[in-house]
Amino acid sequence: MKAHRLYDIAFVGLKNGVHEFNYDIGDKFFADYSAPEFTDSRIKVRLVFNKESGFFLLKFEITGVVTVPCDRCGAPFPLNIWDDFDLVIKLVDNPEGTPEGEDPDVNYISRTESHINVADWIYEFINLSVPMQHIHPSGPDGSGGCDPKVLKMLDEMKGQHHQKINPIWKDLDKFRNQ
Ligand SMILES: [Zn+2]
Repeated sequence: MKAHRLYDIAFVGLKNGVHEFNYDIGDKFFADYSAPEFTDSRIKVRLVFNKESGFFLLKFEITGVVTVPCDRCGAPFPLNIWDDFDLVIKLVDNPEGTPEGEDPDVNYISRTESHINVADWIYEFINLSVPMQHIHPSGPDGSGGCDPKVLKMLDEMKGQHHQKINPIWKDLDKFRNQ
């Protein structure tokens, strides 16, 4: 995986203290990775990088909008995402031989390193910011956001293909029978 140079942080040149990095992420960013389940991504990542002696504290703040297919009607819609993630990076003599019992949430890099690349973390955190389930948000009047025609069609198809029911339909049925 070729991590983009743009996401390199040359920490040796940074003074101890807080530094801020900002990244604009679009679909191009994901070309180096396995394709995400969303498109038309317009995401801002604000990285607060706190350099201490011997370790770094990183906070990634993710905000933006991506387009996802609705789980219910299949039509794409824009989904707002926002989340933040903390990361600890420790400088050690031998990152491969980190003793057991060390904190698994801490990332270890060699003291001889001069920079880190944050692209893989940005990729991971953006994916974690997108909820597993995405269903059209309701309109301001409380009506469902899904296309009623599509829902009706799906309802009819459901009658024809009873075996292939997506689990989500079963939940809807429960709902209806209440
Ligand atoms: Zn929908």
